[in-house]
Amino acid sequence: MSKIRIHALAKDLNVDSKRMLEILHEMGVDAKTASSTIDEETAELVKGLIADEAKQAAAPAVKETAKPETTKKGKAAAAEPVVVAAPEPVVAKIIPLRPPVVTIMGHVDHGKTSLLDYIRKTKVAEKEAGGITQHVGAFEAITSGGKVVFIDTPGHEAFTSIRARGASVADIAVIVIAASESLRPQTREAIAHAKAANVPIIVAINKIDLPNANVDKVMTDLMQVELVPESFGGDTIAVPISARTGEGIDKLLENILLLAELEELRADPEGVFKGVIIEAKVDKQAGVLATVLVQEGTLEVSDFVVVDELYGKIRAMTDGFGERINSATPGTAVQILGFSETPVAGELVARAKNEHEAREIIETTKQARVDAATAKAAAKRLQSQSAAMSLEQLLGRPGEVLVEKRVVTLVVRADTQGSLEALNGILARENNDEVSVNILLAGIGAPTEGDVLLASTAEGAKIMCFSVTASGSVKKMADLKKVEIKTYRIIYELIEDVQKMIRGTIEPVFEERLIGKAEVRMIIKVPKAGGNIAGSYVLEGKLMRNGKAKVIRAKKEIWKGTIAGLKRFKDDVREVMQGFECGINLNGFDEFEPGDLIEVSEVIEVTA
Ligand code: GDP
Repeated sequence: MSKIRIHALAKDLNVDSKRMLEILHEMGVDAKTASSTIDEETAELVKGLIADEAKQAAAPAVKETAKPETTKKGKAAAAEPVVVAAPEPVVAKIIPLRPPVVTIMGHVDHGKTSLLDYIRKTKVAEKEAGGITQHVGAFEAITSGGKVVFIDTPGHEAFTSIRARGASVADIAVIVIAASESLRPQTREAIAHAKAANVPIIVAINKIDLPNANVDKVMTDLMQVELVPESFGGDTIAVPISARTGEGIDKLLENILLLAELEELRADPEGVFKGVIIEAKVDKQAGVLATVLVQEGTLEVSDFVVVDELYGKIRAMTDGFGERINSATPGTAVQILGFSETPVAGELVARAKNEHEAREIIETTKQARVDAATAKAAAKRLQSQSAAMSLEQLLGRPGEVLVEKRVVTLVVRADTQGSLEALNGILARENNDEVSVNILLAGIGAPTEGDVLLASTAEGAKIMCFSVTASGSVKKMADLKKVEIKTYRIIYELIEDVQKMIRGTIEPVFEERLIGKAEVRMIIKVPKAGGNIAGSYVLEGKLMRNGKAKVIRAKKEIWKGTIAGLKRFKDDVREVMQGFECGINLNGFDEFEPGDLIEVSEVIEVTA
């Protein structure tokens, strides 16, 4: 049965691709992007649904006829002329298309850097004679079909570390595969990373100028990773190229733009600003330089930018040529000068009109963080309670229990292809109506830092190793990212642990822990800040800026909330240790009295 591409069908039926995807999702069809394909039968069903929708929309609206009112005398009053106000013209705002943002990934030495270099050399318009492009983390290629933004740090670690911080940057992932070597371990990893992020993939089969290049073998091998090339009837675009001679690169760019067109990437230059840090560094002379990719809205010099708990006023913006610019619209990467501390790549950037608004955004972020931790803890508690109840119900009244589908997410690493296949086979058997075992990546060899990042992007994902161990640096990273790596020598022990995860017996438990206590010694009136600050002394532990706080007076809790700010002398600080004095500002309470105790706690995960 032949396959039909979703965007082509949408075009035929004259509907928006987005609407088409919605309809398919409503029908339960797992179609990720407008470039995915569906079979003829599904296409027919969709056609029927759209025809019905169109009929309903075209049906004349039932007009309410104004009944002539009956007067007391029983006579119909003369019908007054009904003045119908002309409907306000609905002006649909057309959100403009924006250039696609592309990331390049693949195995080492397959030509990622060479491809970026070739595009930069041939497709970046020179602004002035001898204009030298500067590395700012991203660049714009100008082609006859439009602009394409390339993130110029190749590799899946960079891609996933940005994603691990919650931002999605790339619209399309180009996976570079050398035609002389075909798929290698990092190719598979890169594909797993792109798939986990739901980013559409284009394959660039590189080094076709080499005598031992075998494009057909790459095309066939792609099927092993469930990427079926178009030439084999699938929907993966695979373009043979040479980053050395430039052959095929125009075609690759054309395909990137074609895919972008299907994805209908739009952004409103007048909308609420949204951006993401691509990279940041400290320049000895200039200070902190951060590259921001503008995703929505417009950034202007002298705006305030907020990243997590940092903010700064933009003193200058420069483009990829080092030229000063005054404003940056969606799809532009700009280097900005104005932060006092270095933000982290992948952090989201917000815009504020002034310092006051910047501070307000930071407060909201802090509050949202505390709320999220509390909600997570409550949800976990509820989940374990309901799991226990379900079990009781299950024993008492079988058939009446509604258990939500549990998802166990893993990265699996094994020493050999044989053991990996065995593991995959056994784990696949654990899938049923109630449980799904989601394997983000199954690879041969020791886990890598990239694996830790990949696992850190999925809630509760663990790395399960069979007969391979993590190196010290990978373990360190796992500690940092709070990803558990488990190592086994016996396959069935690994399987048993996965089964325990499925049953939920090794669910993490959240607890609120007291981390510090301070005594209020004096009240500092700060009318400008709109309230009082508690001049305090830390008696025990430490106080943290994001902590939950309680005010205790005469052994009774009189208020509960969060810490808005901590000050040591005039400076805002993140934490204050035992034995130090500080100023405490609470969110929504300032009626301090000397002798009040302020207890600070945090919600942490404890393994059951
Ligand atoms: P990366 O590690 O993926 O960034 O790979 P590089 O771009 O550094 O390329 C690795 C090696 O392959 C370098 O020696 C390149 O000159 C070479 N190379 C890259 N692309 C091509 C190509 O299309 N043809 C040939 N013959 N060599 C290439």
